[in-house]
Amino acid sequence: MNRFVTCLLTSAALCAALPRQAHAELDAVKLKAAIETSFESDYPKLDAIYKDLHAHPEIAFQEVKTAAKLAAEMRALGFEVTEGVGKTGLVALYKNGDGPTIMVRTELDALPMEEKTGLPYASRDKATWNGRETFVAHSCGHDIHMASWVGTAKTLLGLKDQWHGTLMFIAQPAEEEVAGARAMIADGLFTRFPKPDTGFALHDGAGAYGYVSYRVGVGSSNVDGLFIRFHGRGGHGAMPQATIDPVMMAARFVVDVQSVISREKDPTEFGLVTIGAIHAGTAGNIIPDEAVVVGTIRSFKPQVRAKMLAGIERTAKAVAAMADAPAPEIRLDEGTKAVVNDAAVVGTAEKALKAAFGEKFMVTPANTTSEDYSEFVNAGVPSMFFNIGVYDPERVAAARKSGTPLPGNHSALFAPVPKPTIATGVTAMTLAVLSAFDQHVKGN
Ligand SMILES: [Zn+2]
Ligand SMILES: [Zn+2]
Repeated sequence: MNRFVTCLLTSAALCAALPRQAHAELDAVKLKAAIETSFESDYPKLDAIYKDLHAHPEIAFQEVKTAAKLAAEMRALGFEVTEGVGKTGLVALYKNGDGPTIMVRTELDALPMEEKTGLPYASRDKATWNGRETFVAHSCGHDIHMASWVGTAKTLLGLKDQWHGTLMFIAQPAEEEVAGARAMIADGLFTRFPKPDTGFALHDGAGAYGYVSYRVGVGSSNVDGLFIRFHGRGGHGAMPQATIDPVMMAARFVVDVQSVISREKDPTEFGLVTIGAIHAGTAGNIIPDEAVVVGTIRSFKPQVRAKMLAGIERTAKAVAAMADAPAPEIRLDEGTKAVVNDAAVVGTAEKALKAAFGEKFMVTPANTTSEDYSEFVNAGVPSMFFNIGVYDPERVAAARKSGTPLPGNHSALFAPVPKPTIATGVTAMTLAVLSAFDQHVKGN
């Protein structure tokens, strides 16, 4: 049993009493085994935290009880906790001598939807959102992230003779609205608190538990919102010659806008437009005054994004001009940018994670979904964002064979297997953080 293992299995006081050895290579394999052993004894508590969070989810910027629960856990571990950062966010700091500041982020928020998993700890909670009552569910797995975040903090404290510096554990609100990261930064995240030298975040998904995936460079998409209001002239459905038909314009736009993707954008580059909502009219024999289309625009590269935004705007104007209608109202709202993983941070972490997870640690293509962790990266925190799976590997293999995918994030049936999923989150995140501290020691 090596020094790491001994430390993790004994008390922090005993660890501190052990002599600190001259710097050696991080032994990720032995560390992983030690983390897994300590996880076994920590798990009953983490399981209770997870199931409580899962059963009582809260929506973006309403995560008051969720944040209070995490604050209590972190205070009990000895972190200095500041609540209410960026409305409902929190910052937990643990200083352990001189050294770099390493940030680990979790999200707090759940989704406005009804859970249909039938699990004994399924959510039946409701909330008011955008003026209406809705069910709330952790169908994106942010509860898995929170339990892994608490577990990682506890594990790192058990290993505190192995690193020196500051842990900065942050819990951000409103990731689903890609608004919480910006709110925390605007509220002084990097001025009232230390600016991290390195940052990490993880996200779960419908893959197999025990697996960790990552990529160098772009890891998620740029997102922009699309809102277009076509102005027509309403009238009788049997007298179209006296009207300007906005439903016709909306229909034409929905089809023609896809030619921006297929004909204008470089086909070897990722970009998409999805129209998720059309609002117009009340009855079959009335031509309405206006039609609204709402959608989302995704891309990886800034130049592809710029080309698409220009093409979408031109198509909307052209469709209105073709109908001899007034110019449409066009709002292409900037959402958040792609998360770009830092090559040096990834290079360091991947050595430890590869040694620990072997072929279960793998490079995967970038996600076409978006994530406002990019706000922290763009504020100057070199980072690594990685993914973990949540389902039994045999079920995942069977689903792949049958061609019917397992329920993914934002599905009412999304149901991670808690223990092995949280174990993977805690192990991978702890190793990633230790690798960052280790790199700093070498760098000095
Ligand atoms: Zn989500
Ligand atoms: Zn999410």
